[in-house]
Amino acid sequence: MSIKNKSFNSRRDFLWNITGAGSALVLSPLINACSSTKKLDPLANILANTIGMDTHNHIDVPFNEAEIAGLKINLYDALKKSGLAGICMTFAVDRPELKSEGEAYQRFLTGLNAMDAVLKANNIKRALNYSDLKAAHKAGKPIVIQSVEGGHFLEGKIDRLNIAYNRGLRVLGLLHDNQPSVPIGDIYTDAPQYNGLTEFGKTVVKESNKLGILIDLTHCSNKAINDALEISSQPMMVSHTGLDTRLGNDEKMATMMKPRLISKEQAKIVANAGGIVGVWTHLASSPAEYVDNIKAMVDVIGVDHVCIGTDTKMAVAEGSNSKFGKQTNNAWDGQTEGFFHTVAKSMLAAGFHEDEIIKIGGGNFCRIFDEATKNKNN
Ligand SMILES: [Zn+2]
Repeated sequence: MSIKNKSFNSRRDFLWNITGAGSALVLSPLINACSSTKKLDPLANILANTIGMDTHNHIDVPFNEAEIAGLKINLYDALKKSGLAGICMTFAVDRPELKSEGEAYQRFLTGLNAMDAVLKANNIKRALNYSDLKAAHKAGKPIVIQSVEGGHFLEGKIDRLNIAYNRGLRVLGLLHDNQPSVPIGDIYTDAPQYNGLTEFGKTVVKESNKLGILIDLTHCSNKAINDALEISSQPMMVSHTGLDTRLGNDEKMATMMKPRLISKEQAKIVANAGGIVGVWTHLASSPAEYVDNIKAMVDVIGVDHVCIGTDTKMAVAEGSNSKFGKQTNNAWDGQTEGFFHTVAKSMLAAGFHEDEIIKIGGGNFCRIFDEATKNKNN
């Protein structure tokens, strides 16, 4: 299998590069040599040594400040069950439709306040850099990276990026379903009208590079992605998509998702620029199908450039009647174990090596998150 050969050469480098995350793997041959009767369980090894990250996970937040006090979301238990070290915890402010100037920013600030409250109640911190991720993983404490899907909150005011950074924002999805009031660039589900990124969109990329915010290019048209790649000094990601050759068995879903899927050619462009592409759980009706979609992506861009970006919800608010979106630990019918336990097991069954699962499960994201956020002045 091509994925095995590709990863073998860089295996040792990678294990050292992730600074200890693979130490049990490095040690395991020695342990095996000392006790020839006992072999470490590969799944246990993977779960212990992956800083598992879902690079795109939604938490519903109220846009009305008064609703924050009553908000109850059991994020801690859901994260512990998942087997992931953490999630890029995201929300979008462009639904329902934005109608007035200032509304996007007000929703953004209220959303952050709500997330502050959820994190405090769950005793979970925001990771501001890779060291935070490593420390949390070592201590066995779940952690989140603050993300937002769409730069609507900026409303053309670049200074707000600094305010967001100081509130802990470390992943910025440039675009979402609806164009911000001051346009950022072409959205893949709309007819192109800006020839890629707008001048303001380019400013947002450069300012994010400067501050230490990782850019998520999902929802951008190919031209907008390429514009961003051309000017960015840091690697970026397309956190939640799939190959446009992998349409699954649900025709209705496939039709809806087609414009949101990436071509092999475009995925290679992102990977060649040092970026990563996340495979979502949509269009996969079982863990095995999900792993097939991951494998297809690996075959195109290599094992160092694929990550997990489910676009599901790790936890929903108590009493929530939101029917939109699946829960991460319940992504497939009959799923009983947490998300990453299920996926890692399926990946092993499909022939992935332990070190490959560690990379795709979180190592690749950690590499670019570290590059994007380290050595900044703030
Ligand atoms: Zn999205």
